[in-house]
Amino acid sequence: MKILVADDSSVDRMIVRRYLLSMDHEVLLAEGGEQAIRLFKLQEPDLVLLDIRMPDMDGYEVVQQLRNIEQGWRPILFLSNSVDSESFAKGIYAGADDFLHKPIDKVILKAKLYAMERIVAMRKQLLIVSRELAKETQKATRIANQDGLTGIANRRFLDQVLDREFRRHIRSLNTLSIILIDIDFFKSFNDYFGHLAGDDALRLCAQKMSEMVFRGGDLVARFGGEEFCVVLPNTESEGAINMAETLRKEIEALHIARDDLEEQQYLTISLGVSSFKAEQKHTVEDIIHSADEALYQAKQTGRNKVCVAGN
Ligand code: GH3
Ligand code: MG
Ligand code: MG
Repeated sequence: MKILVADDSSVDRMIVRRYLLSMDHEVLLAEGGEQAIRLFKLQEPDLVLLDIRMPDMDGYEVVQQLRNIEQGWRPILFLSNSVDSESFAKGIYAGADDFLHKPIDKVILKAKLYAMERIVAMRKQLLIVSRELAKETQKATRIANQDGLTGIANRRFLDQVLDREFRRHIRSLNTLSIILIDIDFFKSFNDYFGHLAGDDALRLCAQKMSEMVFRGGDLVARFGGEEFCVVLPNTESEGAINMAETLRKEIEALHIARDDLEEQQYLTISLGVSSFKAEQKHTVEDIIHSADEALYQAKQTGRNKVCVAGN
């Protein structure tokens, strides 16, 4: 270990130094509190041995400052002549981990360093485990929010975002828009090309839509089956209609062939747009419901088109 020894007595410093070197530790020496703090910052020792009584700054003050500087935890042991129980408690509460009584007994010094190293090792292990756990939790959350087939957000995540954006929208008095999207005649596509080709088409559509919806705060999610939902916070009806029209054109431009249909050459989508101003008395369900009605209208009036909810 790299050990910092702070003691104003040069004799005590040398004794401890000799002991520590014989135990194969690296030693940094400080003659007082100020220097100890400076070396602690510069050299980042693994452990500190600190005299309580030093002329420039007492050990209680030094230990408090060291605890404020450090990130994480490093063992700090006080070196002192035998202390009364009050002083002992004061040292511990100030931030020290233990005491070593002068004159220093080499065997006790070695044993206490051993105990501290053991705690340091356990703490390191704990940090590694908790970092791994945080990573795994992050991964699990991502998987839980992702649609397995397309890789975009799933319904679960959509519901969370809708809930959050709805509350924000009510507070901010902005307009919240959503677009519901449904692939046209997808059953026939599956029947003709097979389910795997259907899956590929769903992936392509999802990918294209995520490319198009890139503004921070906007979201494309798989709503279920061959339906998607786009959430557009702070977006007026006009902006949402433009976005819907862009998506419609981009999907058609993917040129996914529809050999199964007489009436159309490429795979297309129908879209329903709904926009609500915050002052309107409405719920998340109202927004979805009116987008769904608009989508139904698009299906009824020819497909491959955008319809807007009247509210
Ligand atoms: P419409 O234009 O009225 O929407 O007609 P449609 O055929 O698209 O509508 P319908 O609801 O009758 O059929 C939806 C189809 O979407 C049926 C279902 O097999 C297919 N589908 C839903 N989820 C998936 C999926 O994950 N993979 C594949 N390949 N197909 C899916
Ligand atoms: Mg459908
Ligand atoms: Mg459909």
